[in-house]
Amino acid sequence: MAVTFTQTMTTFVVSPMYPCYGGRLQPTQQLNRRQNNMECPLCAISQDSPIWQDEYCCVIDAGNPDYPGYYRVIWGEHVAEMSDLDEWSQRHLMDVVLAVECSLRALMAPDKINLASFGNQVPHLHWHVMARFADDPHFPEPIWGQEQRHAMPRIAPARDALSGRISAELARISATC
Ligand SMILES: [Zn+2]
Repeated sequence: MAVTFTQTMTTFVVSPMYPCYGGRLQPTQQLNRRQNNMECPLCAISQDSPIWQDEYCCVIDAGNPDYPGYYRVIWGEHVAEMSDLDEWSQRHLMDVVLAVECSLRALMAPDKINLASFGNQVPHLHWHVMARFADDPHFPEPIWGQEQRHAMPRIAPARDALSGRISAELARISATC
């Protein structure tokens, strides 16, 4: 059964596709999009054509031509740290990161997945999820490191295939937690 939360700014529904969230974990905070800052590029970009989204976060293509398997998972409000979120939200954000990781593994068969969260330049909570290949331009360095070689990029997954896979992986992960 879906649980509906109502507040002054927003009404949103916790989807029944996340069964464990209705039990052991419950949200104790609600998104406060009123704090969002339109001068922040991630507040703005999170509204722009995500590959996948729910009420809490979205997944966008990082748009890096050398790394077509590079996506960002962006939290839906302008907060800086994981510890700014309640336990439910921390769990949900990491489940979405895991769903993107599993989807990229299924669709691209990379040699490695890289996960990163910095926010030093843009203090808006987000995770980088990157499919890495042993012959990509920077491997084994991070993609922000010293270039190692010239390489042809892989072909990106189709948007529909990736978004469908993320939804399926998220349902699988949340059903087993
Ligand atoms: Zn922001």
